[in-house]
Amino acid sequence: MMHNISILGSTGSIGRQTADVCRRLGLRVTALAAHRDIMLLEQQAREFRPRLAAVYDPAAAKELRIALADTDIRVAEGASGLEEAACIEDTDAVVTAVSGSVGLKPTLAAIDLRRRIALANKETLVCAGSLVMARAREKNCEILPVDSEHSAIFQCLEGRPGSQLRRIWLTASGGPFRGMSLAETAKVTPQMAVRHPNWSMGAKISVDSATMMNKGLEFIEAMHLFGVTADKIRVLIHPESVIHSCVELRDGAVIAQLGVPSMTLPIQYALTWPERRETDCDELNLAQLGKLTFEDPCLEDLPCLSLALDCARRGGTAPCVLSAANEAAVSLFLNGKLSFHGIAERVARALELVPFDPEPSLETILACDEAARIATVAEG
Ligand code: NDP
Ligand code: MG
Repeated sequence: MMHNISILGSTGSIGRQTADVCRRLGLRVTALAAHRDIMLLEQQAREFRPRLAAVYDPAAAKELRIALADTDIRVAEGASGLEEAACIEDTDAVVTAVSGSVGLKPTLAAIDLRRRIALANKETLVCAGSLVMARAREKNCEILPVDSEHSAIFQCLEGRPGSQLRRIWLTASGGPFRGMSLAETAKVTPQMAVRHPNWSMGAKISVDSATMMNKGLEFIEAMHLFGVTADKIRVLIHPESVIHSCVELRDGAVIAQLGVPSMTLPIQYALTWPERRETDCDELNLAQLGKLTFEDPCLEDLPCLSLALDCARRGGTAPCVLSAANEAAVSLFLNGKLSFHGIAERVARALELVPFDPEPSLETILACDEAARIATVAEG
């Protein structure tokens, strides 16, 4: 059980729910980090009294420094501030809940210090999974998944050798446009895309759920976390989001983890593992639900998922380009500068434009991330 926690992305959806878990379990928060929401960050800082509050945006950091002048909380800024929050002393676990590949460097820094990583920030593993997992093995550092599907797989696999695993069934709600054809999703607006039927999440991951890029990113995340190749993972649409994922063992047994759709348990378990503590989640009532349903995804209608599965098989720099281009394209879409289908088109274009490297170094990955963003925002 972890007692001293640093929260990167504390003002976001996962970050706020992590703060709730810390409050309920009485865990000490050693550092908080956000991009620019200093109103909430100040509130959190006054409640949890961390040693450090990091704000990525320098102007916002300056404001927070003034606001917290009556406390002994230090305010750091920029990328180095985020890294400091990941490395703050007397910390057992770092919850990586920033959104996007900005999480990569602080995660690596925390791994070097052998802090437990409670990993929500899937983009880190998508863009540099091989490097991150190799570094974690080398340093003997624990990476525990926060993503609900991966937490479920982790719980189903616990203690089982990889040789027993036949395949992973990665479940997906299908998002708000499940069952709609490509022609029917052409006019989707940002407001429509961020309205998820089962989960309340940050804007970027909500759009990713609508395009089902999220499931593609999770597919690559699972390959790295569980050390399996792409042919061992299947995506299964399960609209009720009650089965959080399953593992199929070599003798045909299928083991699933079920629960109400809530991030509380996966966040908490990444911090309490191997212990289990009470949560305040609603209890699952299967009789009331009556039935659970399943279907195969239709890849022709889901170009983002299709691109992601291709990149999962290609490996190398392909997933990094996919993820960075997607981040840039989703941002354009949310700002009304790109259509819903434009997201997949721009990602496909970036994948064509950025040169492929089968075994990239960290420098190559960072350069590809940058090149993919430039290729995505370029007109024409
Ligand atoms: P949100 O958009 O709600 O929150 C993102 C957080 O990251 C905010 O605190 C934001 O600060 C902070 N942030 C963004 N950029 C920076 C930066 N450059 N430096 C420091 N902080 C930064 O996202 P979510 O909580 O929904 O998602 C976070 C991560 O967790 C993503 O990788 C997502 O894929 C993953 N995840 C989320 C789930 C969910 O249910 N929401 C489920 C599973 C995984 P500010 O508020 O100041 O902008
Ligand atoms: Mg998930």
